[in-house]
Amino acid sequence: MPRKLSFPTSSSTLSLASSAAGTPVTPTFSSTPSGLSSTPMSATPSPFPRANLPASLCDPSLPFPRLIVFDLDYTLWPFWVDTHVTPPLKINATHTGATDRTGEDFTFYDEVPEILAVLPYLNGPNKIKLGVASRTSAPNLARELLKGLHIPPTASFQDEEGSSSGRKSSALSKKKVAIDVFDGGLEIYPGSKIKHFETLQKRTGIRFEDILFFDDESRNRETEQLGLTMKLVIDGVTWEEIGQGVELWRSRRSRAQ
Ligand SMILES: [Mg+2]
Repeated sequence: MPRKLSFPTSSSTLSLASSAAGTPVTPTFSSTPSGLSSTPMSATPSPFPRANLPASLCDPSLPFPRLIVFDLDYTLWPFWVDTHVTPPLKINATHTGATDRTGEDFTFYDEVPEILAVLPYLNGPNKIKLGVASRTSAPNLARELLKGLHIPPTASFQDEEGSSSGRKSSALSKKKVAIDVFDGGLEIYPGSKIKHFETLQKRTGIRFEDILFFDDESRNRETEQLGLTMKLVIDGVTWEEIGQGVELWRSRRSRAQ
């Protein structure tokens, strides 16, 4: 059955329509307030990249990881939070970035806010959990930034008939603080990420084989000895990297069966 994801914003609605045939998804924005319409309206300018999601992410008949974990520095944002950022941080009025004591600006890579908002819902009703594994020595500063930066409001999942207006209303009331999307947990402290993942696995109860990890440092591949899949990212997380990571995870999974 065709399915649709809606992402209500204060003035527009981001809708993603997908089909079981795996047709690439194109987000469109309508001017309908609060995302209460089940029919995409004419597109208006959007604050987010209009990604054509990789086809590998649009076919609900294919398997997805149950937990997707991200490193922070040079994976979700283009800096080292412990060496590049000088506190105190001042979050901007739109919660899209922060300025430190030296006047330098810090924010996510361009596609990251949209990815964090959409990714949990790509496997339909089987929500994908998100997590963080970072070895930064400035965990408090990292958390402060994740609390200050916002992402598009929580997405709701509905079928084509649009029978979930109640759920949409509750989604609208949810906060859109970035740190809140990491329902699998945040492990932020120096040291081998083996420990980070052992803790994430215990907390979520999700098998290592069902975990996909994005990180920019090859030394963290040591975590794969646990059984998870790590996708090395070159220049920050993008939809293309997410698609390649999910395909890598699927190829490992099919070999193991
Ligand atoms: Mg890193």
